[in-house]
Amino acid sequence: MKLILLGAPGAGKGTVAKQLTKLDGSVQISTGDILRGAVQAGTELGKEAQGYMDRGDLVPDSLIMGIMEGRLQEDDCKSGFLLDGFPRTIPQAEALTELLTKLGISLDMAVDIDVPRDVIFDRLCTRRTCENSDCQAIYNIKSMPPKKEGICDKCGSAIVQRADETEAAIAHRLDTYTEKTAPVAGFYEKLGLLKSITGTSSDVVVDGIQKALGN
Ligand code: ADP
Ligand code: ZN
Repeated sequence: MKLILLGAPGAGKGTVAKQLTKLDGSVQISTGDILRGAVQAGTELGKEAQGYMDRGDLVPDSLIMGIMEGRLQEDDCKSGFLLDGFPRTIPQAEALTELLTKLGISLDMAVDIDVPRDVIFDRLCTRRTCENSDCQAIYNIKSMPPKKEGICDKCGSAIVQRADETEAAIAHRLDTYTEKTAPVAGFYEKLGLLKSITGTSSDVVVDGIQKALGN
């Protein structure tokens, strides 16, 4: 499948994407994961992106489009992809439309995962992430703690609170979402590609997506 996953930070895009990859071998492409990997590796891209990310601001569209233009042409995308955290602005959505046309790829659907803001805020404050950039597994100290406190179940690295997951940065990210990213759903609605799913459980969202795809 070739899907865009829309929704606020903490709506569960990453969790849903991981479940979907298991269904048909589509790859998850998370711009947030790619950027955090670049920051840790200290690449030019990482150096440019870090300040924006720590403040909870969006990274400039041109940087993101540079990443995605290369990423979508990699071989593993041929079996399908789940875009997680991209496009996040109307200019990114417009540029993606152009890029996909150029590459001869058509999208199945854009899924908007709709979760109430109070649930989101609570989730983000209790979210923890594996600090190993090759792993980046996600935990929640309330609902999904690791087996051993502070240690990733999958790779044994430390799990940490992201720099952009302080209360102030979270509030700022949610405002940025409302202002810049929420309108992207309308963009896909006009193209007849939007499917909105309300649900705080990733299983419910995954079921809704499969039904919408006719599976
Ligand atoms: P979340 O969905 O939890 O906000 P992500 O991991 O998707 O987190 O993104 C983390 C940060 O990376 C964002 O706050 C932003 O600074 C940057 N980022 C990720 N994707 C994009 C994008 N498509 N456009 C601009 N900035 C992005
Ligand atoms: Zn890990």
